[in-house]
Amino acid sequence: MANSDRATIAIAYVYRGTFIHSTEETAVEILADAVLGVDTKGKIAFMGKGKDLDELSQTFRFSSSKVTQLTQHEFFMPGMVDTHIHAPQYSYAGTALNVPLLQWLKTYAFPVESQFSDLEFAHRIYTKVVKRTLRNGTTTACYFATIHTDSSLLLGQIANDFGQRALVGKVCMDRNNCVKHYKETTEDSQEETRRFIAELLNKKYPLVKPVVTPRFALSCTGALLEELGAIAKNNNLHIQSHISENTKEVRLVKEMFPESKSYTDVYHKYNLLTDKTVMAHGCHLSDEELALFRKTGASLSHCPNSNISLCSGMLNVRNVLKHKVKLGLGTDVAGGYSASVLDAVRRAQDMSKILTLQNPEYDVLTFEEAFRLATLGGSQALSLDDQTGNFEVGKDFDALRVNVAAPGGPIDLIQYDGPKIQLEKFLNLGDDRNILEVFVAGRKVVPFTEPTAE
Ligand SMILES: [Zn+2]
Repeated sequence: MANSDRATIAIAYVYRGTFIHSTEETAVEILADAVLGVDTKGKIAFMGKGKDLDELSQTFRFSSSKVTQLTQHEFFMPGMVDTHIHAPQYSYAGTALNVPLLQWLKTYAFPVESQFSDLEFAHRIYTKVVKRTLRNGTTTACYFATIHTDSSLLLGQIANDFGQRALVGKVCMDRNNCVKHYKETTEDSQEETRRFIAELLNKKYPLVKPVVTPRFALSCTGALLEELGAIAKNNNLHIQSHISENTKEVRLVKEMFPESKSYTDVYHKYNLLTDKTVMAHGCHLSDEELALFRKTGASLSHCPNSNISLCSGMLNVRNVLKHKVKLGLGTDVAGGYSASVLDAVRRAQDMSKILTLQNPEYDVLTFEEAFRLATLGGSQALSLDDQTGNFEVGKDFDALRVNVAAPGGPIDLIQYDGPKIQLEKFLNLGDDRNILEVFVAGRKVVPFTEPTAE
């Protein structure tokens, strides 16, 4: 446990009880009877032991009235990170899972997304997705919006208003042969991307940033990819896209970009693989491609619900980790039908068990590892681990206050088995009823306080 030397900064509040998080060394570290103080800037000012409370209160000059004691069935864990979610597709989440990827884009995704030129419609859906994901414990979300600049800016505004940490991407696509009205010209895509970035940065939202978002190689010309790589580089921005999701897509990318050695090489060639890049899926990447991810510092977002729902493929997580590629979890709404990272935690374990069924040598992903992917792993995948991901002193306080025995909740606790079992129960059985409070950068964002028309 470490404390900052910033004793001069005022303490806003203090919690005492069980804290559970991940570190580089330990997938699940349990800090029993710990005391954590949050300063008025929303950062973790200190983490100490309950028995040292008096000393801490003198050092950091806070009164006992600022200390809230958790009950035996409560704990704090870091807020969860959804490294890949399509905000507009939330409107049809839970449906349309009957066809494979490319047909699914044509039949469902593109027609729905084309409606987001309507700002009123966008406002309604985007408010719902931000509120739902926050309630589900997603403190950081990496969003795809649509090709429409103004409604994409609106998504940024809504995330900011509700206090969610977010990367927001205006989608870029200048190729679309199947739904011809849902695409841009190359020039428009470049111009609108510049406008989107400038206007979003100009808002100076503390927790919401733009992310350069080529939809995927098949929907972008080389000219567009090249310019997007330059825009990201010149502005030091995050980048997100999709890669190697299903085999038909991989084949088509090879045909469309014959000069590239691999799918990964297409993005690499256009400077779209950096240490601020997150690529969704990667189910069919070769070891050579994973090595290129590692070399460039780019990360993968594992979206198991989507990969199973659209029968896309199965990511060999063990192999990704072996290659030391940064990895987080994504819901990939609405290819994935659930907007909860808890669901991704469960599906990631299920998928690794299917791989074990196919090959008994395959080492199953543990719940502890899935927990780390959902929190610290996600923050690393988005290169935000200097700000969030665990309870290190100096990071922002992004946290969920969990009560495993919440009245009316989905978990029946038969006996008290200690914090690790409580965490396991919550990850496998819990839902938003168990999440009493959600904090982002120290601000309590759930329960909602703003009056809304929703
Ligand atoms: Zn996606």
